[in-house]
Amino acid sequence: MIISSAEFITSAVKPTQYPPPEYPELAFSGRSNVGKSSLINTLVNRRHLVKTSRTPGRTQLINFFLVNRSVLFVDLPGYGYAKVPVAVRKNWGPMIERYIGERENLSGLVNLLDIRRQPGPEEHSLAGWLSARNIACLWVLTKADKLSKTKQKNRRLAISREMGIDPETLILFSAKTRQGRDILWERIQELCRAFEPQA
Ligand code: GDP
Repeated sequence: MIISSAEFITSAVKPTQYPPPEYPELAFSGRSNVGKSSLINTLVNRRHLVKTSRTPGRTQLINFFLVNRSVLFVDLPGYGYAKVPVAVRKNWGPMIERYIGERENLSGLVNLLDIRRQPGPEEHSLAGWLSARNIACLWVLTKADKLSKTKQKNRRLAISREMGIDPETLILFSAKTRQGRDILWERIQELCRAFEPQA
């Protein structure tokens, strides 16, 4: 995928602050430290478009980026970081639920999971939530470079069983080696093609 432009548009906490729904939109979600900023930066060939935070999970903002003037990428706040104040953590669910429930141009969610972790209650409830709302989702296993190719395949199989999904639909990804970048872009483009702009 050739990237001609990638720009930060705005941050939001509520729907009135979202940019107009003019483009297909992909939202990226995952536990804090899963490698979400690194994955988005790899997709758009930028080192610092999405800033990696020193205190992960503190910024509970929804950040919008416009890529190639044709698709919006949304960086959702990471979940599951223990040091985040309880009040902030409690706000995560309603904020994300509102975003997912109300965003009319949402083409799909890209859910990230560290390849070395088992899916937890958060991943299961997110998967249930998305299928109940009929929202397309992609599952990406991050930091694949930490494991050998054989172990990557074994982990993919174990995670697919745990999540009850086809292993072929789990994308092995590494920001370090760029493994999986092309296939992820292909899947994203498939989801975008289904988007019809609002008249
Ligand atoms: P975020 O909190 O989900 O946005 O995660 P970051 O992108 O900030 O990454 C968290 C940490 O994991 C950083 O130290 C990254 O350098 C590291 N990391 C991210 N992606 C990869 C990867 O593909 N391979 C390896 N080995 N480390 C990664």
